[in-house]
Amino acid sequence: MIKILDQNTINKIAAGEVVDRPASVVKELVENALDAGASFIHITVEQGGKSLIQVSDNGHGMGKEDLAFCIQAHATSKIETISDLSHILTYGFRGEALASIASVSDFMIISKLQERIHGYALTLKETHHKEAHTTPTIKPSAANDGTTIVCKNLFSNIPARQKFLKSDAVEFSHILDTFIPLAMIHPETEFTLTHNHKIINRLERGGSFRARIAELLGKHFFSTLIPLRFETDDYKINGYISAPEHAQEKSKHQHIFINKRPVKDFLILKACKTAFSNLIAEKAYPSVILDIQINLEKIDVNVHPKKLEVKHENPAAVFSVIERAIKGVLPSFSPSSLAHTHTIFENEQKSKFFNSKSTPYRTASPFSLNKTPIALFQERMSYQDATETSVSFGQPPPREDMQQQWRLITQLHRSYILIENEKGLLLIDQHAAHERINYERIAEQMDGNDAVQKQLLAVPQTIELSLKEKNLLTAHLPHFNDIGFELEFFGGNTVLVRALPLSLRTSELPALIRNLLNDLSGESAECENTTDELKEKTKRVRRTLLYALACRSAVMFGDVLSEEEQRALVSELAKTKNNQSCVHGRPTSYQISLDDLAKWFKIK
Ligand code: ADP
Ligand code: MG
Repeated sequence: MIKILDQNTINKIAAGEVVDRPASVVKELVENALDAGASFIHITVEQGGKSLIQVSDNGHGMGKEDLAFCIQAHATSKIETISDLSHILTYGFRGEALASIASVSDFMIISKLQERIHGYALTLKETHHKEAHTTPTIKPSAANDGTTIVCKNLFSNIPARQKFLKSDAVEFSHILDTFIPLAMIHPETEFTLTHNHKIINRLERGGSFRARIAELLGKHFFSTLIPLRFETDDYKINGYISAPEHAQEKSKHQHIFINKRPVKDFLILKACKTAFSNLIAEKAYPSVILDIQINLEKIDVNVHPKKLEVKHENPAAVFSVIERAIKGVLPSFSPSSLAHTHTIFENEQKSKFFNSKSTPYRTASPFSLNKTPIALFQERMSYQDATETSVSFGQPPPREDMQQQWRLITQLHRSYILIENEKGLLLIDQHAAHERINYERIAEQMDGNDAVQKQLLAVPQTIELSLKEKNLLTAHLPHFNDIGFELEFFGGNTVLVRALPLSLRTSELPALIRNLLNDLSGESAECENTTDELKEKTKRVRRTLLYALACRSAVMFGDVLSEEEQRALVSELAKTKNNQSCVHGRPTSYQISLDDLAKWFKIK
């Protein structure tokens, strides 16, 4: 039998489109505060936003009548007729958010119009009874100018949704993903973000867009960016892009704002990538932070329930504007450096083993290859055993059989080490080999319950992190300590490194720490409800970190190694337990036997 659903059920179903996790509540509430002209916005969350999300602003506030209305479906003060849709200047206009949030949480609003003496408080206790919900209580209340909205126990009345929520850490990281772009594009507004009673970020009002980028994405990262300004009749672009050598393995620093709205605009991102083509590897992402003002008539913002996308009237024009804007500021390269780039990328595309976590290449960059440090090993490896003694390689026949004499031939294409041994020709992948050596060295110390050997820095080194990196490091600090780091927060987003694992060199420490955090960013995606799950997760995170450390501190393809360094690498590899593969499973060596050669040359 067909029935018309009651309004409460309709709201709950509709809520699924707008509110799917705490971060979407934060987005809607902050956008409402910005629409209300607030000059400060304070966000407080607990347990990743699951138990509490509170957003306070000093915007224009709401009177008693508006309070009663604002939680109804399709209640908005921002448009009146369909024609208003063609010139939307506010974030909201669909009148769905508060109705949705109120229907899936314990909900309260306190609001005061600026000229009034007192405000009003609206409370709505969510119950499982359909009707009870629909009558909120509104009472006079002492209040500051503006609005405070409190949303508690999100989805506690919809178990089917609640069970899709992830751990507090994961939900909080989504909140950061929402917070960062909105705070970035509104430097005129003060923001504070508090999680579990700890202030995570405080941003003074009146700063600049560039200061916000530096604050939120890291001062170091900001210093690598190239500024960009470009203007046509319909488009005005102000922003920053990364130099090609700073392209990233992940698309983590891509922020597109259209008329101050953070959007996922695949067309614009494609145009960015195209502008960089030939300068960065196929799999790399340029960082782009673009504040784009577009003539309101050229876009439709009403195409996505969360308003995360816009539709362009003339996609080809947008594409070309973005491409031109970026190409205009990209540095031009001399033919020789370009040729260099192509050689490396050809290699990269041919590599069967390409894997973002074990990429044996340095960041897709024509420049870093020129700067390849020759003396890498002196700092990283011990030499006492670096003589041509007996070593073992190959598939696991009994170990004694593998003892062979060997002679170093050369380093091939700054990537492979060629060895003459009894069987024939042995090729060693320098990155995979070094990764294996690093891993076993640290893992052995950890398993043996010895403290991992550290080197204390005479002068602690400071590293500037982004807000997300700092958040990740806070969550994983004990794991970093386990593997031999001593790190300490030092105000703002700065971290102080007091000690590092013995085998590592210090020169690229900031990049190493950032890369390790990057590798951890995919971790902790699951809930850890039981002690066993938590233990399991701790083990997994430690392993990820250890793998990452082994990989990130290994020599790369393109690193020139002295003969002495090559020999050291070979002897060290021979001593490792599992010398057939690197920690990501790629082989470390390949044996071509004399028999193989004889067959190849048709001698046999
Ligand atoms: P929309 O933003 O699409 O209009 P919402 O459901 O988010 O819909 O909000 C409904 C209405 O409530 C808004 O149009 C606005 O008038 C009012 N409102 C919501 N939040 C605030 C706030 N923080 N300050 C003042 N008014 C608000
Ligand atoms: Mg809204």
